[in-house]
Amino acid sequence: MAESPTVPRIRLLATGGTIAGAQTGARGYAAAAMSAEALLGAVPELTDLAAMEVEQVARIGSQDMDEAIWLKLASRAQAALDEPAITGIVITHGTDTMEETAYFLNLVLKSTKPVVLVGAMRPATAISADGPMNLYNAVAVAASAAAVDRGVLVVSNDEIHFAREIAKTNTTQVGTFKSPNRGLAGLVNRGRLHFFGPVVRRHTAGSEFAPITARELPRVEIIYAHAGLQRDLLDAAVRIGAKGIVLAGVGAGNLSTGALTACAEAVKAGVMVVRSSRTGGGVVERNIEFDDDAYGFVVAEELNPQKARVLLMLGLQRGLDAAALQALFTVY
Ligand code: GLU
Repeated sequence: MAESPTVPRIRLLATGGTIAGAQTGARGYAAAAMSAEALLGAVPELTDLAAMEVEQVARIGSQDMDEAIWLKLASRAQAALDEPAITGIVITHGTDTMEETAYFLNLVLKSTKPVVLVGAMRPATAISADGPMNLYNAVAVAASAAAVDRGVLVVSNDEIHFAREIAKTNTTQVGTFKSPNRGLAGLVNRGRLHFFGPVVRRHTAGSEFAPITARELPRVEIIYAHAGLQRDLLDAAVRIGAKGIVLAGVGAGNLSTGALTACAEAVKAGVMVVRSSRTGGGVVERNIEFDDDAYGFVVAEELNPQKARVLLMLGLQRGLDAAALQALFTVY
């Protein structure tokens, strides 16, 4: 398609994942084997949607995503968004930690332009690979005026999800992503968009954390609660210098008596404790089975543990106290 000023210009930032993965046997595969250029080459129809540019930011399976790569990715994404000629950006990413990266970027990018994360559950060389259609749909969303000011979005399996709502819920199926509490942002059928609900909570251009200038983020650990949970791992988190602990609590963010004592002592030692839930849905409310006010705990409301960790890191980076941190969980 001949380029004209009206053709959307999309920057693709590639980080790896299965969407760039090559099958290595009947079942095995290596994530991130393919370059960003090769990904684009597999979907020639993209030229019907946009003028594409590519930048390889990382080349990892997303289990290796960490704070340093998040900060680099945020900086490269912000640079692209700040270019007037860029309409929107697409970020290819492994699905394992996609929800955390999406939520992090949702809080730290200062722009109303569309930002869309996309991945695949089947490697690029597998039978019936899902990556090419996911990529086509992601570019369609990033190029659309309808996606402006909706925060960071994730496109997968013909669905559009808000960064705050999405969670990976299945190990292998292409329909792995769900938005359990507030539902889908919309659908995208071979490039045609249907938005349902408006974005809830503050994000991107309205976020106090955007644009991010920090060079590192405080250490925050997640402790997974279970029947018979003892206090040792909580004590260990304090000992190794964690500034915050997110509890993937049982039920509505509950934990055993011994672990509760350890959490109370952690708060007294200056470590922030956020109660979230391992259930995968619902709200963790304050002062139900524990007196959160007396203990100095924060509750995660709807955020799952891995997203609560992201918000807690950003809040701790600002040096916020428990009351100010709790306020963040009601706003973001
Ligand atoms: N572990 C890989 C990753 O997250 C595979 C999962 C995927 O991309 O679907 O990058």
